[in-house]
Amino acid sequence: MTTESIRHHDTDVLILGSGGAGLFGALHAHRANPDLRITIAVKGLLGKCGCTRMVQGGYNVALNPKDSIERHFMDTIEGGKWLNHQELAWKLCNVAVERIIELENELGCFFDRNPDGTLHQKAFAGQTFDRTVHKGSLTGIEIINRLSEQVWARGIERLEEHRAVALIPSKDGSRIAGVLLIDMRDGGFRLVRAKAVLLATGGGPSMYRYHTPSGDKTCDGMAMALHAGLTLRDMELVQFHPTGLVAGNDTRITGTIIEEGLRGAGGHVLDGDGERFMHKYDPRGERATRDIVSRGMYEEMRKGKTGPNGGLYITMRHLDPVMVRREFKGMVDRCRDVGFDLVSGLVEVTPTAHYMMGGVVFETDTSTALTGLFAAGEDTGGIHGANRLGGNGVANSTVFGGVAGDSMAAWIAAEKPGLAEPDQAAVDAAVTRCLTPFGRKGGDLNGLRERMLDLMWDDVGIIRDRDGLTRALAALDDLSAELEATGVAEASRVFNLTWHDWLNLQSQLLVSKAIATAALAREDSRGAHYRADFPETGPLETSANTLVRMVDGRLVLSTAPVAFTRVRPGETLIRDAVAAE
Ligand SMILES: Cc1cc2nc3c(=O)[nH]c(=O)nc-3n(C[C@H](O)[C@H](O)[C@H](O)COP(=O)(O)OP(=O)(O)OC[C@H]3O[C@@H](n4cnc5c(N)ncnc54)[C@H](O)[C@@H]3O)c2cc1C
Repeated sequence: MTTESIRHHDTDVLILGSGGAGLFGALHAHRANPDLRITIAVKGLLGKCGCTRMVQGGYNVALNPKDSIERHFMDTIEGGKWLNHQELAWKLCNVAVERIIELENELGCFFDRNPDGTLHQKAFAGQTFDRTVHKGSLTGIEIINRLSEQVWARGIERLEEHRAVALIPSKDGSRIAGVLLIDMRDGGFRLVRAKAVLLATGGGPSMYRYHTPSGDKTCDGMAMALHAGLTLRDMELVQFHPTGLVAGNDTRITGTIIEEGLRGAGGHVLDGDGERFMHKYDPRGERATRDIVSRGMYEEMRKGKTGPNGGLYITMRHLDPVMVRREFKGMVDRCRDVGFDLVSGLVEVTPTAHYMMGGVVFETDTSTALTGLFAAGEDTGGIHGANRLGGNGVANSTVFGGVAGDSMAAWIAAEKPGLAEPDQAAVDAAVTRCLTPFGRKGGDLNGLRERMLDLMWDDVGIIRDRDGLTRALAALDDLSAELEATGVAEASRVFNLTWHDWLNLQSQLLVSKAIATAALAREDSRGAHYRADFPETGPLETSANTLVRMVDGRLVLSTAPVAFTRVRPGETLIRDAVAAE
């Protein structure tokens, strides 16, 4: 048994993460049973971290009488290239309607409105109807501020700056017993026992050279899931957003996005010579889906048709400047902050890793294969298939976060589980793994991170092939071995960010291997996954999902056929095909 002294905390429901999924999980569990003891543990500060707060464009929901849930669903399936879990996608489109009403009428969000009082819904790329609800171009701040206030107003406990490091099974292995965390403020361990746990740490492809997610997101949840024996699906499906800002190498603003609504509103993407090029790649031009625009841009960048800093440009200067200032105030301000004029000039941009469509296998009620563990938000896989539609991300986290809160409360009420005795061997192993770098000589963790960013960008990025993926897997193994041998020089654990960088890298490298393993196995091109050596999309009828899990420390790959439970390739659920016109 470890000699480490571990603090304890008991709760009925433990929620990991305070994005849209985590906060909705807490609020719904509390609403279902106000007597439940609920604890949110989060790596950052509640209300100030994660990507939901960063949501710019908005929230997809079929509200307009000319739109329909079926149309939203079909856009999601077509965009996902038929790899979606159809029941999850169906639930997303249905529950989004009640969730947006809940956000406004119960939780206090104000979204932009039309003169007639209805919610304003704007165009987002890849969709057949303008259905994206928003608050200017800073929608996530509105959502997270209101959700945080509601959480603060209830007796929900908070463990802020607490990093989850391991899902701990019960001694008899039959269910989850709790989660081991590090209190980042003093570096001590805390074991939280819970009847039900929600995994909502938000994934986040932060292992790529250019990436959008917040700095606290390093795929810890997916890594913990792998260690706990859970299966991840479709990990090769990493979405690149076409318009990440290029603001120089010395600022973290580089890689962060300016929103898709700019292309939806008629923005043009230009090469380094100032020429439009997207119609070469897709008749929809800049309004094609993210995968196609990102790939077109990457191809042009590879041809060297770039601006001074290696990026391309987006411009709105041919559009009404009053409209651009009014509709995209947040984006105009952000560009100005880094020296670009969005209204009448050129803004240098690059595709940037944005979202993971893959993640933990889970059910429509958010339960997982580990009894008592529920999952929601970007940690989960299946809803979006091969390509997430802009606006379906925050819908996903809020819809399924709420479902998770309901499900956990219902499960506790039905099963009446007590708190389980944790598996001490699992606790000891996790503590030992986390403390590894303190016994080792300090090294160049940042150099290691830089190499990971480059190899993922070059070999596991927008355009892939067998040679690159094989090379990447070997390089990732080397980096993992190097990480294990690299220590942290500072012995104190108090807010030791080098130690947390080390832990971040451990999660990122493991999940990077899952991405590369699945990408090597998928020998066709689907949505965000493009294989230069298999450029065609295989037959949709025989579509399969990739599945990765960890067995004896190695990642094992398998596949399973997609279940077309609602609609088959070639069919549609849209009854009135001209409704949107
Ligand atoms: C810049 C940007 C713009 C976006 N714009 C849109 C948009 O317009 N529309 C849209 O639909 N989607 C958008 N998205 C995607 C959207 O933000 C995500 O899909 C969604 O918000 C994810 O919600 P989540 O609750 O799963 O995770 P998050 O909101 O990211 O929350 C994750 C939480 O987990 C915590 N955490 C992480 N690791 C740990 C750990 N080890 N222990 C404890 N806590 C941990 C984090 O601190 C954070 O609180 C955007 C994303 C970005 C980055």
